[in-house]
Amino acid sequence: MKYHCFLIKYAEIGIKGKNRYLFEDALVRQMKFALQDVGEFMIWKESGRIFVKGAEGEEFDQDEAIEALKRVFGIAAICPMIMDENKEYDHLVKTVVQYIGECYEDKHLTFKVEARRADKKFPIRSMELSAALGHELLQAYPELSVDVHHPDVMLRVEIRDQVYIYSEEIPGPGGMPVGTNGKAMLLLSGGIDSPVAGYMIAKRGVRLQATYFHAPPYTSERAKEKVVELARLVARYSGPIDLHIINFTDIQMAIYEKCPHDELTIIMRRYMMEIAEHIAKENGGLALITGESLGQVASQTIQSLAVTNEVCTLPVFRPCIGMDKQEIVDIAEKIGTFETSILPYEDCCTIFVAKHPVTKPNLNVIKKSERKLDDVIEGLLKEAYESDEVIKIR
Ligand code: ATP
Ligand code: MG
Repeated sequence: MKYHCFLIKYAEIGIKGKNRYLFEDALVRQMKFALQDVGEFMIWKESGRIFVKGAEGEEFDQDEAIEALKRVFGIAAICPMIMDENKEYDHLVKTVVQYIGECYEDKHLTFKVEARRADKKFPIRSMELSAALGHELLQAYPELSVDVHHPDVMLRVEIRDQVYIYSEEIPGPGGMPVGTNGKAMLLLSGGIDSPVAGYMIAKRGVRLQATYFHAPPYTSERAKEKVVELARLVARYSGPIDLHIINFTDIQMAIYEKCPHDELTIIMRRYMMEIAEHIAKENGGLALITGESLGQVASQTIQSLAVTNEVCTLPVFRPCIGMDKQEIVDIAEKIGTFETSILPYEDCCTIFVAKHPVTKPNLNVIKKSERKLDDVIEGLLKEAYESDEVIKIR
């Protein structure tokens, strides 16, 4: 079936008045972003709904367009539609019969017609029109049967400026359009969890920026490329991301030389958070995001998280916190980051991990260890900030 346009349905809860425009404008902006590689499209708002169609004379792949729209947060459903300027009844019957004929190969289905006459000049009322079209369909396809309560196919026919016909509702990702809820800094590693964490927060309408800490020569160029690729995969949902690459080698070495080895990870994580927060604040970020999950590793016990958190003044979002690894993996697979995440390039934490890291760090003890860095850390932090390489993921 060749559809003429898509009707975009979105959840309207809590978006009244001025917020509604912000929501819709952000949604349209994200739709344009998602569709930019598929072709040229017209997107317009009409009586509280959003429509998309190919620009004049533009050919595009329908499935590709649907796949792209399925990545736009805020969309509840995508309905492929037939649009027809001819509003004559006989013509309408023909179109409806042809529509069902082409869309549903096997006609052993129950159905219901729900017609709506918004154009009062159209001579047949909504109820009568539903009944009449239902009757015509039964005539054309005797295998069909009517079920008004739980039909397999709900055929909607709307008489407006034109005739609109649709029956399919392809689920969208839900959530809120990116850009309606501020900006946050994702600590993006090459692992499975942090890309998922970024996806989940972007889904709530938050624009993303990201920081990756690399430690050349202990971490390779390929490990960095992998993170850039992960950022690109997340950006398919979140829209543009500024990825900050910070050289963390010297800080890591200093910690390694001066601090107790069972505290390496926790001290390292505190500096990562401090640096990420600094960059976030300089760029309008209002929160931090990590892929931490309670109890997953020594640095993610409740005590470790408390000690890590202590350096931050911004809220820290940890959307994976209550999830099992498999649940995180399931999302990573769904959003297409898993295959990249499991590529075997070392990340900067794995090289410096102690055999027996503290699992219940004491903040005072950790702070005391950090004092051993007092005469070098200021300079090292400054150098780390200066190393910032921004990769604009578009
Ligand atoms: P992930 O799968 O996201 O790497 P993980 O289970 O390996 O997580 P950790 O290595 O303890 O867990 O890291 C916890 C979180 O800290 C990560 O989810 C990420 O948000 C952040 N993080 C860790 N390493 C880095 C890094 N090199 N650069 C940026 N952020 C990092
Ligand atoms: Mg990791």
